[in-house]
Amino acid sequence: MGFSLFNFGSRDLAIDLGTCNTLIYARGRGIVIDEPSIVALENVDGVPTVRAIGDEALPMLGRTPVGLRTVRPLRSGVIADLDVAEQMLKHFINKALGPRSRLPGKLEVTIAIPSGSTNVERHAIRDAASNAGANEIHFVEEPLAAAIGADLPVDDPFGSMVCDIGGGTTEVGVISLLGLAYSRSVRVGGDKMDEAVMAMVRRTHNLQIGETTAERVKREIGSARVPADGRGLSLTVKGLDMERGVPKEIEITEAEVVRALADPVGQIVSAVRTALEHTAPEISADIIESGITLTGGSSLLRHLDAVIAEETGLPVNIAERPLECVVLGAGQVLEERVGRGVLQAA
Ligand code: ADP
Ligand code: MG
Repeated sequence: MGFSLFNFGSRDLAIDLGTCNTLIYARGRGIVIDEPSIVALENVDGVPTVRAIGDEALPMLGRTPVGLRTVRPLRSGVIADLDVAEQMLKHFINKALGPRSRLPGKLEVTIAIPSGSTNVERHAIRDAASNAGANEIHFVEEPLAAAIGADLPVDDPFGSMVCDIGGGTTEVGVISLLGLAYSRSVRVGGDKMDEAVMAMVRRTHNLQIGETTAERVKREIGSARVPADGRGLSLTVKGLDMERGVPKEIEITEAEVVRALADPVGQIVSAVRTALEHTAPEISADIIESGITLTGGSSLLRHLDAVIAEETGLPVNIAERPLECVVLGAGQVLEERVGRGVLQAA
């Protein structure tokens, strides 16, 4: 087993640098970091300076005084703000290593990257990891890592389909014999859902709500399917009355949220359908049997699994630990429970 004394000094890390959450798996220790990919920046003499990262920056989201702002450096699935992303990665790596960061020797990191990422994006991530102290860097494609973490039979000559629905992107992958037979990444996920909720509330209630509130609405009463009674659950939210410029409280219904989410949900469904259309017949036959496995935080949107099942006619199930699948999968490679053939040179 991995949790031996021998591995105590191990500095091998697997990293899921997500648009919403960063997770790090340390060889022999399991998941050691699970924090939001958020950085709070303060303007010091006109220079943006990091004030807080991850868990410490979260409460500041949408509540920053003048001169302080929070950013999500990976927002759209790529490194949007290189310098900040690098500082965030460095912080998480050091935190993951703890006292081991002062040990000599090599620091090997395996980073899960979106399957659609360009060479420029890959270089940016590699440079960030290297500046954070890593001297051996590998990549593993996200859908493959997600499939390994979801315990799919990735090394069999049998096709499996995984759909990882995160904050910034949705990645669909068809896996067979430890490789991706097909993959597709679309820039739609939880963020687009939150934006849709904000826009709906603004349009129909003349109320401006923050991102954090929109996300709460989505999680608490959001759904991919119209409620049976046409109205469903409801939730009271606070925001800014856009006409009078004062704080106001309104009630939002599930049915309204479902309508607002129809567009991002439709885009996710069509990404899955496109993947199915591009899958070789033999593999399609396997998927009819094995179905589609959902991972990523947004797979938890209520009834999204049922809607994907209806729209594709295939069995759909959500992985056991959807938010952790990618990092657990990359960790399995570190622990050598899966062949290193899945790794790519950075
Ligand atoms: P990423 O890999 O892009 O960092 P994650 O897989 O960590 O993304 O998922 C984060 C997304 O999942 C966020 O948009 C969040 O709002 C969404 N999410 C988490 N839990 C739920 C839930 N119960 N219902 C709907 N969305 C959820
Ligand atoms: Mg992810």
